[in-house]
Amino acid sequence: MLLRARIVVPVTAPPVEDGAVAVWGDRIVAVGPWSELKDTWPGPVTDLGEVILLPGLVNAHCHLDYTGLAGQLAPPRAFPDWIKAILAAKNTWTAADFQRSWLDGAAQLLASGTTTVANIESIPEGLAERRASTPLRVYSFWEMTGVKNRRPAAEITNEAEQLLTRLPPAPGGVGLSPHAPYSTLPELLASAAEIGRQRNWWLTTHVAESEAEFEMFMYRRGAMFDWLGRERPMSDCGVGSPVQHLARHGLISPRFLAVHANYLWHGDAALLAARGASVVHCPQSHSYFGHRHFPREQLEAIGVNVCLGTDSLASTRCRHTEPATLSLFDEMRSFVARDAGLDPAGILARATINGARALGLQGQAGELSPGAWADLIAVRGSPSVAAVNEAIVNHFGPVHASVIAGRWVALPVPG
Ligand SMILES: [Zn+2]
Repeated sequence: MLLRARIVVPVTAPPVEDGAVAVWGDRIVAVGPWSELKDTWPGPVTDLGEVILLPGLVNAHCHLDYTGLAGQLAPPRAFPDWIKAILAAKNTWTAADFQRSWLDGAAQLLASGTTTVANIESIPEGLAERRASTPLRVYSFWEMTGVKNRRPAAEITNEAEQLLTRLPPAPGGVGLSPHAPYSTLPELLASAAEIGRQRNWWLTTHVAESEAEFEMFMYRRGAMFDWLGRERPMSDCGVGSPVQHLARHGLISPRFLAVHANYLWHGDAALLAARGASVVHCPQSHSYFGHRHFPREQLEAIGVNVCLGTDSLASTRCRHTEPATLSLFDEMRSFVARDAGLDPAGILARATINGARALGLQGQAGELSPGAWADLIAVRGSPSVAAVNEAIVNHFGPVHASVIAGRWVALPVPG
């Protein structure tokens, strides 16, 4: 099929006015001016009209399981209070509640233009069915903790490996997510890293998210140290930063997504860069917790790939109108509001090609180019070519149309 739009934004090439994208099966075969493609690529034509056509967005960190917790947890005074609150809220939920929440979240991501997501999974019941029920490309990272349950690390990681290898094939893939340095013990981190190496799986971990976590690992003090000192051995604390802790246990590699990385020690950014890891920033979650300024400039100046995620809706404030929904457009706007050093094209890159790179999907996701997956979204608008990236970043609400793997997911809205 041939899609025509007022402006096509390939991300990896300059925008094309009165552009077109030719799709064959599940791939893009050509991108260029309508005048050139209309004769070379015969097939059914969909003229999308006054829209901007761009690649589907890549959401590099999400927890679909917690969509139903939107606005339910007030911002905490100290980070450990939020952990306690979400654990308490989860305890009241049934598997059916989590199932509904996951599916609602997937629908919200599709409506708001995400076509690929790195999702943290914590509920095994029905996971295969959920993955099969959505056209979204879901990279399911199995979440593991090992503090309260006190189970041997090998038992936890073997169970995760079995669960993931038994999942039927679906769009996307699988990986491991040791939850965070504070909620795991070193043996679990090392075991997860080893399985990742053997199976060529990507790994992702929340790291250096809060000041409390940073103080626990660096200085053996603070709210998290005091709380967890009653729950876990603390001999891994006081010997370096949270990022150094993960590096020591083999996690940091080109197949690693470090989520948050708000509190860095000297050399942490260089360490992440030298080992080729990516950092996922979640602007709205960052703002909810009131963390220190995200060190984007420091990370990128040394060569770290920074991309964007939505995190979960459990870290969104209660609103008096509608509860928040998952949307990378909302994250892009939140990001630009707090980082004056970024232009709109740069923001869009972090929500597309940078996320694809983090997941090893360069050339496949996050761009419109020959050979890439035919994952496209359209938003209404007819700005000038010079203002097109700004119009994209300022887009609000559902997308006008979307295609994943060459199939319509949301049909163009008439009118
Ligand atoms: Zn998270």
